[in-house]
Amino acid sequence: MSGPGDLWLAGLAHEPSPNADERPAGYCVDLLVIHNISLPPGEFGGGYIADLFHNRLDPGAHPYFAAIAGLNVSAHLLIRRDGDATQFVALDRRAWHAGPSNHCGRERCNDFSIGVELEGSDDTPFSETQYVRLADLTRQIQALFPAITPQRIVGHSDIAPGRKTDPGPHFDWGRFHTQLAQVEWKRRHIGDT
Ligand SMILES: [Zn+2]
Repeated sequence: MSGPGDLWLAGLAHEPSPNADERPAGYCVDLLVIHNISLPPGEFGGGYIADLFHNRLDPGAHPYFAAIAGLNVSAHLLIRRDGDATQFVALDRRAWHAGPSNHCGRERCNDFSIGVELEGSDDTPFSETQYVRLADLTRQIQALFPAITPQRIVGHSDIAPGRKTDPGPHFDWGRFHTQLAQVEWKRRHIGDT
């Protein structure tokens, strides 16, 4: 019998974050939120993002870290520059990624969304392999949560305008949706491999 906290995707690392809790009763997960993150900002690689999601970021390791080390944040998934992915929160649980937010009049988007972080910044193109991995993981998420239609995949900046800018101008939505459609076509015509 399944219960809350069971939805972990296969084929990627699982590092359960303490920054998660139960979704409010009766909520339908029907939104996917795409973010970017890099720690320190603009630098890629290393384990600082995972450290942040596990409340173990060393505030002395970089001047920027002192301001954020006390935050309790997380995302369901992180896709690094090389496409390597880690899941931090079970998909049926609530991750703490969106903050104050509003989607079509509904506030507190964490309640009903899944958050995916792309390692990146507002100033840098994302890698080819990140688009491929994002489309693959999105397809898996949509299979579990069919209410997440392509139209219900948004950026953090869409639900927190004026406060957040990610995933930023370099995230190519057209490319992502094309990639996602290709993954779906292959699934229908060739089958899951
Ligand atoms: Zn964000």
